[in-house]
Amino acid sequence: MHQVTDFFKRLIDTSSWPPRWYCGEWTDFHGWLYIISDAAIWAAYFAIPTALFFILSKKKDIPLPGIFWLFMAFIMLCGTTHLIDAIIFWWPAYRLSALMRFITAVVSLVTVISLLKVIPDVLKLKTSTEYERELAERVKAEQELQIAKEQAENSERAKEQFLANMSHEIRTPMNAIIGFAQLIKETNLDATQQDYIGVIQKAGNNLLVVINDILDLSKIEAGSLEFEKKPMEISEQLNSLRVLFEPKATEKNLALIVELDEKIPAVVLGDKSRLSQILINLISNALKFTEQGKVAIKAELTSDTDTHATICFSIADSGIGIPKEKHAEVFKRFTQVHVDGKAQIGGTGLGLTIVKHLVELLNGSVDIVSEEGKGATFSFILPFEKVSSNTESSESITENAKLTIQNLSELRVLVAEDNEVNRRLMDVVLSSWKIKAEFAENGALAITKLEEKNYDLIFMDIEMPIMGGHQATKHIREVLKISTPIIALTAHAMASEVEKCLASGMNDFVAKPFNKADLYDKIVKFAKQ
Ligand code: ADP
Repeated sequence: MHQVTDFFKRLIDTSSWPPRWYCGEWTDFHGWLYIISDAAIWAAYFAIPTALFFILSKKKDIPLPGIFWLFMAFIMLCGTTHLIDAIIFWWPAYRLSALMRFITAVVSLVTVISLLKVIPDVLKLKTSTEYERELAERVKAEQELQIAKEQAENSERAKEQFLANMSHEIRTPMNAIIGFAQLIKETNLDATQQDYIGVIQKAGNNLLVVINDILDLSKIEAGSLEFEKKPMEISEQLNSLRVLFEPKATEKNLALIVELDEKIPAVVLGDKSRLSQILINLISNALKFTEQGKVAIKAELTSDTDTHATICFSIADSGIGIPKEKHAEVFKRFTQVHVDGKAQIGGTGLGLTIVKHLVELLNGSVDIVSEEGKGATFSFILPFEKVSSNTESSESITENAKLTIQNLSELRVLVAEDNEVNRRLMDVVLSSWKIKAEFAENGALAITKLEEKNYDLIFMDIEMPIMGGHQATKHIREVLKISTPIIALTAHAMASEVEKCLASGMNDFVAKPFNKADLYDKIVKFAKQ
């Protein structure tokens, strides 16, 4: 103990030893070789930790920084022992030298132990080559994923395109079938012939429903369904539906009740045709699955704010009902609950799937209350934006009715349509309203006619040889600078197609096969202008 205290007390006392130059026999060469080498080792041992410190200060996230610090201390201490060794040639501080060596030994041992401990972690560290390989693999996987995504999107687009084309191909002849059936029905027929024509019309209309359902579902699934937001009257819409379904209800001896909450704003903003589609699906189901009693359609205001009105629509019937355990199932595609037994009623099992999708896309929800044999009530709640009361309702049927067929006979109408059957059909239909139309077989011929003469209204088919409807319309608007209303006439009944028509300068759109009333409404609408 005495030696230890004596050691520290005389740590830098050099009186017990002569400088190293005087111990033994040093030649100048031998001594300076020793001194210079020790000094060089010291310089190098200081440079290494300085470099490490620089690296640490620049790279904040270097792995295992503790080991770095220990290494720096250990190397620096080793350097110091060498420096003292060189200095001892003039200043024999042997105690200080021993202390430095001891400290270096302790730090070295701590470094070794720490290093042993972190070996597993070090082995887990990735080399830059490994990182590069991993990165390359990840980039490759991402590229493959991107390609797969593009392929999936392409095939989704191809599917939608295929369905759109299919529906176009089917709609065009259907246009002729349904249109001419309607015209034949208006001629003098005996009862059997009336019956047969009725069957043709019914089958044609059913086929159209199936085509539309499949097309709609594919659009919903592809996320390409678009909604419009225009002023509409809920009361007008419910009345039209009453008119539409009354014959069916009467035929089945059912009471068709329509109840409208008076608090519902007269005009709201929404997608009239999508709301109709939802209601038509539910009302046709109610009529289809009810043999006696009633079908009640109700619209109630459930909440009313400054900006929005939320309306609950319900369709209640006294029909065969749906067992509780099947409630969720009916909304799944191609599901039909009543397929066996007495009710071989027909349908695709897509109607309710579309209803649910549409309602949810319009930020609403659907509900069903039913028990087997006790009727069914389907309801859905939809929010509508409000409009100021003086905004004009989009198309009011009553206003249109003010225009008589007499006025229409003065209309100069041009129809651009390449299909001969469709031209004949248009001619017959327009003539029934005393409209004497002129016809062009393609866009180019329509332009020639427009250069020679003025018209009040133009019907424009989209797909025509030589010059299609879009190109012809652009020419009419941009080159001829004629602003006569142009109504697109096409079998492509997709929302994107409507937009395309409007973008090329057309004013409206009639989907083929057209319904006579629809066509009449459009003509009246533009005749007013
Ligand atoms: P579809 O009517 O074309 O078969 P839907 O998706 O509209 O397809 O309906 C699915 C099924 O739900 C129907 O087949 C029927 O079994 C049942 N369903 C729908 N509405 C009613 C209703 N009002 N009453 C009883 N069953 C119904």
